[in-house]
Amino acid sequence: MTDQANPPAVKKLFIKTYGCQMNVYDSQRMAEAMGADGYVLTEDQADADMVLLNTCHIREKAAEKLYSDLGRLKPLKAERPDLKIGVAGCVAQAEGEEIVRRMPLVDLVVGPQTYHRLPAMVRGEAPAILTDFPPEDKFDHLPARTSLNRATRRAPAAFLTVQEGCDKFCAFCVVPYTRGAEVSRPVDRILREARDLVDRGVREITLLGQNVNGWHGAGSGGEWGFGRLIRALGGIEGLDRIRYTTSHPNDMADDLIAAHRDVPQLMPYLHLPVQSGSDRILRAMNRKHTAAGYLRLIDRIREARPDIMLTSDFIVGFPGETDGDHQDTMRLVAEVGFGTAFSFKYSPRPGTPAHDRPEVDSRVADQRLQELQGLLTKQQKAAQEGMVGRALGVLFEKPGRQAGQMIGKSDYLHSVFVDAPQAQVGDLVRVRIVESASNSLRGELAA
Ligand code: SF4
Repeated sequence: MTDQANPPAVKKLFIKTYGCQMNVYDSQRMAEAMGADGYVLTEDQADADMVLLNTCHIREKAAEKLYSDLGRLKPLKAERPDLKIGVAGCVAQAEGEEIVRRMPLVDLVVGPQTYHRLPAMVRGEAPAILTDFPPEDKFDHLPARTSLNRATRRAPAAFLTVQEGCDKFCAFCVVPYTRGAEVSRPVDRILREARDLVDRGVREITLLGQNVNGWHGAGSGGEWGFGRLIRALGGIEGLDRIRYTTSHPNDMADDLIAAHRDVPQLMPYLHLPVQSGSDRILRAMNRKHTAAGYLRLIDRIREARPDIMLTSDFIVGFPGETDGDHQDTMRLVAEVGFGTAFSFKYSPRPGTPAHDRPEVDSRVADQRLQELQGLLTKQQKAAQEGMVGRALGVLFEKPGRQAGQMIGKSDYLHSVFVDAPQAQVGDLVRVRIVESASNSLRGELAA
């Protein structure tokens, strides 16, 4: 426990965050937890008293990347043996003791469900390797978000994890093994955390979960689904924007689709991974939805919110994928028209059902990926150019490089550069878009 009369000496914590937004959120919460023990964040690894690598297992060669980063820390640890080195996140969960065996310079290994115990681990009051799934809820043991500003900068947009883990078991994915079964956080804790964030100046919250739209919980009047939660969040005064990610098509319930129509704070933007346009491949992936089902869902969502922008994820070259399957994907993309999308060549993840399946020839998969990305890039460009002339809300997140310039995010998550010498970070303004650049927009303050 921290003694308030004798605050701990300030120490510096450097966190490197790999991968997804949930890891960004987890890094913030670990920084807050360590802040109670006197740690402040530094951006200079060489100056840190503790280096924490918060890893992600989704992308290719995640463990190799971790070990090579740890190798680069060897000279720093040799120079300053007191430097604490910790590994957190999904690779920590998957590799456990193996990390310390291969890299003895590592002092601590902590999984995604146990990071509330990080301060105790650093103090030597808890085991140095904790990768179990503990009975307690880590969120009950983390400091309130109001302490965030001790450790991190204020920002008008924040993440809030509402759900963790996944029961879907897609054949390519490690999440059900590293993050465990689906768990939804209780309604009251989510609403309290959201209010805390708004009280400290946050105007936009992105709700996070590996399967965020599968969230459910007991609220007033019975069981709530995710749409009901969004309606409740929409009632918080000062919370101007709500987003959520990442969703599964099968969990897009009627009430959630209706929330896109009814809740003005819910931004007209939805990331809805489909992965493939071929039913044969969707079956092999164990996605439990079809291409036609996905398209019907998109129609219903667009009916509820005609101006919504859709984004998605694609895996190209999944084991067994033929040219015909790939063309099914191309047709689905052409039919939907995405604002942007993430597309990757399949690579096997250890421990997943698809790991040992025969792989598609790498050059063939490369060609398919190129073809898909060509179409997605065209769609992205068209979507951005379609913004020119429109007046959009923009939430300013930071000053630009040029004097008087601000950079913010549009309703559709585009970065927008605006000349606004009188504006401040945190202002939410109307901006007329005047130009589309490669990955951003330029706008002028609307009258
Ligand atoms: S829905 Fe599939 S891809 Fe998404 S986290 Fe769960 S298993 Fe992984």
